[in-house]
Amino acid sequence: MALCPQCNQATSLSSDNAWRPFCSERCKLLDLGEWFGERYTVPVDNLEGDLLQDEDGTLQ
Ligand SMILES: [Zn+2]
Repeated sequence: MALCPQCNQATSLSSDNAWRPFCSERCKLLDLGEWFGERYTVPVDNLEGDLLQDEDGTLQ
C-alpha cells in the first residue's frame, strides 16, 4: 500500500491499478496539469516581464 502523490489517500501500486502511483484518473490528470501548468507559466511570466521592462525603457 502506498499514498497517492496527489491527494495522499491510500492507493495501490500493483498492476491492477491503471492510474498508479495515483489512486484515480482524476489525480493523475491533476498532477499532469500542475506539471504542465508550471512549465508553461514560467516562460510566459518571463516574457511579460521583458515586455514591461521594454515599455518602461521607452517611456523614460
Ligand atoms: Zn489520489
